[in-house]
Amino acid sequence: LEVIASVEPRVAEATRDELADQRSSLKLIASENYASPAVLLTMGTWFSDKYAEGTVGHRFYAGCQNVDTVEALAAEHARELFGAEYAYAQPHSGIDANLVAFWSILAHRVESPALERFGAKNVNELSEEDWETLRHELGNQRMLGMSLDAGGHLTHGFRPNISGKMFHQRSYGTDPETGLLDYDRVAAAAREFKPLVLIAGYSAYPRRVNFAKMREIADEVGATLMVDMAHFAGLVAGKVFTGEENPVPYAHVVTTTTHKSLRGPRGGLVLATEEYAPSVDRGCPMVLGGPLSHVMAAKAVALAEARQPAFATYAQNIADNAQSLAEGFLQRDARLVTGGTDNHLVLLDVSGFGLTGRQAESALLDAGVVTNRNSVPADPNGAWYTSGIRFGTPALTTRGFGRDEFDRVAELVVDVLSNTTPNLTKDGRTSKASYTLADGVVERTKAASAEL
Ligand code: PLP
Repeated sequence: LEVIASVEPRVAEATRDELADQRSSLKLIASENYASPAVLLTMGTWFSDKYAEGTVGHRFYAGCQNVDTVEALAAEHARELFGAEYAYAQPHSGIDANLVAFWSILAHRVESPALERFGAKNVNELSEEDWETLRHELGNQRMLGMSLDAGGHLTHGFRPNISGKMFHQRSYGTDPETGLLDYDRVAAAAREFKPLVLIAGYSAYPRRVNFAKMREIADEVGATLMVDMAHFAGLVAGKVFTGEENPVPYAHVVTTTTHKSLRGPRGGLVLATEEYAPSVDRGCPMVLGGPLSHVMAAKAVALAEARQPAFATYAQNIADNAQSLAEGFLQRDARLVTGGTDNHLVLLDVSGFGLTGRQAESALLDAGVVTNRNSVPADPNGAWYTSGIRFGTPALTTRGFGRDEFDRVAELVVDVLSNTTPNLTKDGRTSKASYTLADGVVERTKAASAEL
């Protein structure tokens, strides 16, 4: 930090403050974690300075032998860890991994057959007319993914994201009574819509998914099954999700982030079957430029960590702790979407406390509990104010919290929310944003969390 401070002291100061904030608060954001010192240090090296467009052994720049080593190691660890036929370590983030996956699926399913039909080896050989036809075909494909308010992700075909602009999209939701995925409804939607891509995976669904059933649905309608396991990759790596709950044997293409439950550097990975591997391998130049070599090196380190037996214990603890947190809420009469959890996250419906998600998120933050507001299915408060708070256990499990500590976390959260009152607006309506915390609750919560 002294070196950084000698150039821009405000960055050094913010970096120090960030450490203090991360250590003094209860980090319950389901997509965050604490990467190991080995992972953090690997990200801060001169690998950052190297350009390496291309793939291992086939680069557009000279001098990439050391990048080749770390990229190949990251891919090898990913293949071994997840039992995948092929792994691609270049995506800079989860969104990039999904973009690579979409374009690989389009390349394999739409572009390759078109090239064959037109008798061309690659797109550069196409006449203007055939190229226009191909562009039209690429832009006219369908995707079916989980709806946002049921817990899906923006990249699964929603309009603000490029996926919603690239594909005609429809969503499958969850059962309105139970909040659970209903595979018969997914199958019915797939039969009607006939998507090229069926996406499974989520950001805010607190349950496991049966990927064998999703594959059956995909096969029936001729869709490619893509699973975005960004959130639960750590549980797959740690063998908490096995059999039909492990997407790798069932999906054609699997994407993930490396920084959530997997506890690595910020980044993405794509896993694929042999059939899809050649298209995924063209991630650069399809949608990527030069890979982040320092981050690929850190992915290799994190994936090596995830192959250690201790990681399986960590992953099991993530799931056990989520159970404890959910039970802690239920025992205190709080309402949970789907009535509980069997993964790493818990979705609390805060309408029972008379609050919006936004008020609850802010009040908890005042008390040092860092979470994010989240829609609940058919949310009456919409995607901005919301009615839910999403909690995840990966980060505090890394800090060594166990079941007892998570029960105490539930107690603290319920205490804060029960002591938060929405304010009235000038015209006498209940505000969706402002609130008042009862005296003493912030100090009480901060003192309790300092002891944890
Ligand atoms: N996919 C899912 C399911 C996610 O939850 C997220 C991020 O929260 C992403 C993709 C995007 O990851 P990133 O923020 O690394 O682009």
